[in-house]
Amino acid sequence: MDGSACDILILGAGPAGISAALTAHARGRTVLVLGADPMASPLARAERIGNYPGLAGMSGRDLLSAMLGDLERAGIKRVTGRVTGVVSFGGRFMVSAEQDVYQAGALILAMGAQQRAKPIPGETELLGRGVSWCATCDGMLYRGKRVAVLSLGGEGERDAAFLRSIGCDVLCFDPTQAKNAQIEGTDRVTAVTVGGKKHAVAGVFVLRDTVAASALLPGLAMRDGHVAVDGDMAASIPGVFAAGDCVGRPYQIARAVGQGNTAALAADGYLKERDK
Ligand SMILES: Cc1cc2nc3c(=O)[nH]c(=O)nc-3n(C[C@H](O)[C@H](O)[C@H](O)COP(=O)(O)OP(=O)(O)OC[C@H]3O[C@@H](n4cnc5c(N)ncnc54)[C@H](O)[C@@H]3O)c2cc1C
Repeated sequence: MDGSACDILILGAGPAGISAALTAHARGRTVLVLGADPMASPLARAERIGNYPGLAGMSGRDLLSAMLGDLERAGIKRVTGRVTGVVSFGGRFMVSAEQDVYQAGALILAMGAQQRAKPIPGETELLGRGVSWCATCDGMLYRGKRVAVLSLGGEGERDAAFLRSIGCDVLCFDPTQAKNAQIEGTDRVTAVTVGGKKHAVAGVFVLRDTVAASALLPGLAMRDGHVAVDGDMAASIPGVFAAGDCVGRPYQIARAVGQGNTAALAADGYLKERDK
């Protein structure tokens, strides 16, 4: 595959995504794993794994490192980045992460338990019209202009520094301030109100550590806040599969790994059928 195209693109580098990648690779598929820093998986916070066969006493970090080692030994490509957009076009999926675009014939969503955070008022309505989820993707549009960074995850200051470095006049709000912000504008963003004070801005960057699957893929069927799937882990959009905590409880490694395996086999079957 060239650097950006593959058969199966896996979103999320936790146990479900890694398991799916190993199975898809074993089926002869070209695979790319795209996800935030794997050590941001909740598993990295587990002191001791108590209920996964054969691993008594291992820490979550050590288990993740071992799983990542499996990816590396298999030669499976992994890119660290926050996925901010998915577009389906002509039977292929284009996925944006940071400033790059990747494409694949099938997607496996393995993004962990989805964020329950409510959108900021005005965020959904003005997305793409002054509201952005990605400083590196859209920052240049606001060069020389005043923008607000609503930092709801750990990357806000880093992205604010990037925006300043390319010539934006940046107001950066920490998570406590940002979660009560309000974005204003009719056709485009005109202002942001934080702590009762209105600031005129041309753009607002709403930055979370992750973007939920339902926000990435408009129209994706959800059930109780999780991606709805059938027994083969197929989601409601043809060519999209999902596995692990993002499809529901119980949130457990064994379940995530098993579902990743099933999703990869189903994605392989889908591509075979499609290419007949
Ligand atoms: C403290 C703690 C202890 C635990 N202990 C145990 C235990 O002992 N045994 C057990 O079975 N389970 C345990 N769990 C649960 C276990 O960690 C999860 O069930 C498991 O990690 C789920 O794997 P996953 O691959 O579905 O999701 P995750 O491990 O959450 O991985 C998903 C990955 O996708 C990334 N991601 C999400 N959205 C995006 C995006 N838009 N762009 C890029 N990347 C994105 C996330 O950052 C994350 O790295 C524990 C959980 C916690 C919090």
